Amino acid sequence: MAKAFASTKYVYLFGNKKADGDGSMKALLGGKGANLAEMTRIGLPVPPGFTITTEVCAYFYANKRAYPKELRAQMEAGVTNMERILGKKFGDLENPLLVAVRSGARDSMPGMMDTILNLGLNDQTVIALAKRSNNERFAWDCYRRFIQMYGDVVLGVQKRAGEDHEPFETVIESLKAELFPGDKQVEDTRIDANGLKELVSRFKKLVKSRTGREFPENPWDQLKGAIGAVFGSWMNDRAIVYRRKYNIPQEWGTAVNVQAMVFGNTGERSGSGVAFTRDPASGERVFYGEFLMNAQGEDVVAGVRTPEPVRELARKQRASYAELERIRKVLESHFKDMQDFEFTIEEGKVFMLQTRNGKRTGLAAVRIACEMVKEKLIPWPTAITRVPAEQLDQVLAPVFDRAAIRSAKLIAKGLPAGPGAASGKIYFNAERAVEGANSGEKVLLVRIETSPEDLRGMIAAEGILTARGGVSSHAALVARQMGKVCVCGASALHIDYHTKRLDVGEQTFREGDYLSVDGTAGEVYAGQVKTAASEIIQVLLEKSLKPEQSQTYRNYAQLMQWCSQAEGDRIDAMREMILAEKTDDRRRALAKLLPYQREDFAGMFEELSGLPATIRFLDPPLHEFLPHDHAAQTQLAEKLGVSVEKIAKRVHDLHEFNPMLGHRGCRLGIVYPEISEMQARAVFEAAAEVQKQGIKVRPEIMIPLVGFPKELQLQLEVVHRVAKEVAAERKAKFNYLVGTMIEIPRAALIADEIAREAEFFSFGTNDLTQTTLGMSRDDSGSFLGAYAELEIVKQNPFASIDQTGVGKLMEMACALGRKTRPGIKLGICGEHGGEPSSVKFCHRLGLSYVSCSPFRVPIARLAAAQAALEEVKAARGGRK
Ligand code: ADP
Ligand code: MG
Ligand code: MG
Repeated sequence: MAKAFASTKYVYLFGNKKADGDGSMKALLGGKGANLAEMTRIGLPVPPGFTITTEVCAYFYANKRAYPKELRAQMEAGVTNMERILGKKFGDLENPLLVAVRSGARDSMPGMMDTILNLGLNDQTVIALAKRSNNERFAWDCYRRFIQMYGDVVLGVQKRAGEDHEPFETVIESLKAELFPGDKQVEDTRIDANGLKELVSRFKKLVKSRTGREFPENPWDQLKGAIGAVFGSWMNDRAIVYRRKYNIPQEWGTAVNVQAMVFGNTGERSGSGVAFTRDPASGERVFYGEFLMNAQGEDVVAGVRTPEPVRELARKQRASYAELERIRKVLESHFKDMQDFEFTIEEGKVFMLQTRNGKRTGLAAVRIACEMVKEKLIPWPTAITRVPAEQLDQVLAPVFDRAAIRSAKLIAKGLPAGPGAASGKIYFNAERAVEGANSGEKVLLVRIETSPEDLRGMIAAEGILTARGGVSSHAALVARQMGKVCVCGASALHIDYHTKRLDVGEQTFREGDYLSVDGTAGEVYAGQVKTAASEIIQVLLEKSLKPEQSQTYRNYAQLMQWCSQAEGDRIDAMREMILAEKTDDRRRALAKLLPYQREDFAGMFEELSGLPATIRFLDPPLHEFLPHDHAAQTQLAEKLGVSVEKIAKRVHDLHEFNPMLGHRGCRLGIVYPEISEMQARAVFEAAAEVQKQGIKVRPEIMIPLVGFPKELQLQLEVVHRVAKEVAAERKAKFNYLVGTMIEIPRAALIADEIAREAEFFSFGTNDLTQTTLGMSRDDSGSFLGAYAELEIVKQNPFASIDQTGVGKLMEMACALGRKTRPGIKLGICGEHGGEPSSVKFCHRLGLSYVSCSPFRVPIARLAAAQAALEEVKAARGGRK
C-alpha cells in the first residue's frame, strides 16, 4: 500500500561526503554510479552529482523511449543539490555550472557507451565561464569539446561512407593548416582563444549543415538530449557485440551519471589521468598509470597524445602526486582489490572521477591475489575467487624461446600491455585480420591506434600492436581483458593504412609479412620467433627452471595449495565413504560426493566445449585419503562424529605393504561397484546438464589398472547401465566412449582381448614403467644415479620413456589392439607426455593424442576450488 503514496526513487544524489547510494548498489546505479557514491561516503574528493537508475533505462525501452513522469522533478532536485554545494548555477550567466553526462552499466563496458563533457555551455555561458575563470582560452576549449562530443554522440554528426576522417577532426585539421601552415603535427593545445572561437563557429556550421538544425542552446534541452543518447547507446552495435562476447544480459541496462565538471584543461597546473593501484600487466605492487597535463579525460584514453607515466607527476606536481598516493592506499584498503581509477587535477587539486576493480592479466591476477593475502588485505579463500579459471591459460601460455629470441631482430619497443608471446601475419585493418584468421592463419592486428570498431579484428588476432596510445588506451584495455598479447605505443612504427605498409627504420613490412610481439617486455621483432613453455611448465615438467628462479611459479604453487585446502570439504566426504564398513553407509557417503563430482565434470565439459574430455575413474589406494598421525585422526573423528579408534582401525586395516601394487585402480570399482556407479552418474548427470545449454559433450571414461578382460567387462556394465538410467531420467542422449589404461604388462600382452571391450587405450606410462622395470618411482632415486653413471640406463626412465623395454610393450599393445579394433584410438597420459623425446616416440607409434594435459589440470583444480567455495557460500546464504 505504501507504494501508492511514495513515488519510485529514480535519482540518487552524491556529494559533500553524503550519498543516497553505496558501492553495493551496482545493479541499480551501475558500477560507476555505485562507486561514485561509495567514494563520496568514504570522504574521497568526488565532484557532486546524481545517478539516474537502470530502472529508468528499462522504462525507456519498454515505453517507446519515454521517461517516467517523476524523473524531471527528481533531476531538478539533483541539479539544485549540486548548485548548492558548489555555489554555481546551471545555465547561469555569472557562474555557470557545467556537468558531465556519463553512462555506467553494472559491468564496465570500455569504450562502448558515450560520455559528454562540459554540458551547459552556450554562446552566453561560455562568456561567463571565461570571465569567471579569467581564462578565455580554457572556456572556449571547453565549448569546442562540448560541441564536438555532443554533435557526435547526440546529434549523430559522424563519419559517412566514403569519408576518411571524422567530420569534426577534418574541421580541426583544416583550421590548424591555416593557422600553422607547413606544420604537420600541431597539438590542440597550441590553438589560442581566438582560434578556438573560430573553431566553435565552424563546428556549429558543420552541425547545422549536417542536421539541418541549430546547435541546442538551452542547457536543459542539452541535458535531456544527452541522457537520451546515453540510454540510446545501450542498444548500439558495439555495445551489443560486446555484451554478446561477455554474456552480459540485455535487460540489465545502463545508468546515467550527471556530475559537476572539474577541469583538467585550465592550463599547465591541471591535467587528467588514469591509474591503477598495482601494475595490471605484471601485478607488481607499484603505483601505475599515466596522465596528461592541460587535458580533459578523453584525451588520455583516446590515444591521440601519448601520456606520461604517473611517476613523472612526482616531479611536476609533488603535492598532487602525494595526494594520489594517499588515495591509492585508501582505495585498496577500502575496496580490498586492485583499483583502476580516473582522476582530474584542477589547478593543483585532485578529484576522483571513477574507480572500479581493475582488469588484469592472468599473470597479474595470480600475483595480486597471493600478495594481497600476504598483506592481510584478503583471506585466502577470496584469493581463489580472484583468479578467473580461464585466465590461468595465460599464465600457462608459451613465451618466446630464449635462444630464438636472442637471435631475433628487435625492430621497435613499445609498452608491455598484454603479456605473452605471439607471432603472426600482420594485417592493418580488422576485416582483413578476421579474414586471415578465418582462413586459418595466425594473425597480428597492427593499427596506429585501435577503437571499438576494431573489436572483431582484435578478437581474431593472436596479438595486437599499436603505434600510438598508452597503457590505458583502448588497445591495452581490451587486450588485458581478452588476454591478448599486446604491445602499444610503439612510436617508431610508421603505419600507412592506404598502402598497407609499415615502415620502421630502414625496414618495410607489408600485409601478410610476419612479425612477433612480446607483450611482457613490450618488444617487436621481425619475422616468426619460436615459442617455449611458460615458466610454470618449465619448472613442473621440463625442470629447466628451479622454483626459486620463478616468482610466477611460486605464486602459482601457493594458489594451487589453497585450492587443495578449499577442496578439503570434499575430502571429508571421501573419507566418510572410505570409513564406511557397510555398503549402505558407503552409498550414503557417495551420495554426498556426487554433487562435487558433478560440478567438476560440468565445469570441465563447459571448458572443453565439445572437445573430448577424458575422465579417469578412481585410482589411488583408499588409505591415501586418510590421515595417518594421531592428531589429524582425532581432528577428523571430531569432524565426522566417529571415534578415533574407528579411524585408526580403518587406517590399520587399509594398510598395505606395497600400495602401488595393492587395492587400487579398477580393483576398487570391482570390489565396491557403487563407487564406479557414483562416478558414472556424476559424469552423465553433468553431461546432461551441460548439453542442455547447447554445448556438445564428449566424455571418454577411462578405467585404470586393467589386467584382465573380465575386469573391464564388469566396469563397462556399470557405466552403460548408469548411462541408460540417466538418459531416461533426464531425457538425454550421450555420445561417450569407454576405454582403458594400459599400465600393467599383462594388459599389453593381451591387448587384442582387451580391445574387444575397450574403445580406446591410454598408456599410463608411469605405472607401466614401474611394473615393467619392477622399480618404484619413489624409491628409485637411491640407485638410478649410479645406474646412469655406469651407463646401465641412458636416461631416467621416469622422465623419458624406456623405448627399448617399455616401448616394446607399447608397440606390441598398439599392434594387438589394432588387430581387434582397426582404428582404435590410442594415446598416452602421464608426465612422459610433456617430454620431447617421449612425445616423438609416441608419435612414431602412431598414438593420436598425448594427454599430459598440464594446461587443463590446474584450470580444473581452480574451477573446482571455486565451485567448492560457491557451495559453502550458498549454504551460508541459505541460512540467512
Ligand atoms: P568511460 O566509461 O568511457 O570511462 P567516463 O564517464 O569515465 O567514460 O568519462 C570519460 C572521461 O571523461 C573520464 O576519464 C574523465 O576523465 C572525464 N570525465 C568524466 N566525468 C568528468 C567530470 N565530472 N569532470 C571532468 N572530467 C570528467
Ligand atoms: Mg568513453
Ligand atoms: Mg571512465
